[in-house]
Amino acid sequence: MDRSTLLAALARKTPCPSCGQRRLEFLLRCDLAFGACLYTAHCRACNDSFEIAAAAIPPDAAVLEDAVEPCPGCGGRQRRAALHCTLDTHSCAYTLECVTCVTAPP
Ligand SMILES: [Zn+2]
Ligand SMILES: [Zn+2]
Repeated sequence: MDRSTLLAALARKTPCPSCGQRRLEFLLRCDLAFGACLYTAHCRACNDSFEIAAAAIPPDAAVLEDAVEPCPGCGGRQRRAALHCTLDTHSCAYTLECVTCVTAPP
């Protein structure tokens, strides 16, 4: 799984911060003036768009599996990729969540 495939999978699982529906689709826009292609998440339900921060582009799946520093909260080594979108900035950020801490919050 390459990074764009991974991002697309994450976008499908992420609820839209505007309407709450899980209908985000992943787009790579290359029609913008400033050169570099821009990753965006677009909601098909409410037609809102969110920029995915360049720094948030996930590593390749192989790198992801190696990114197993113990969780500072519980020491667990299982990680899950997640995409978090915020309405304030209209941007999405990619994070690695601890499976244990997410399913059993403090
Ligand atoms: Zn929406
Ligand atoms: Zn943890």
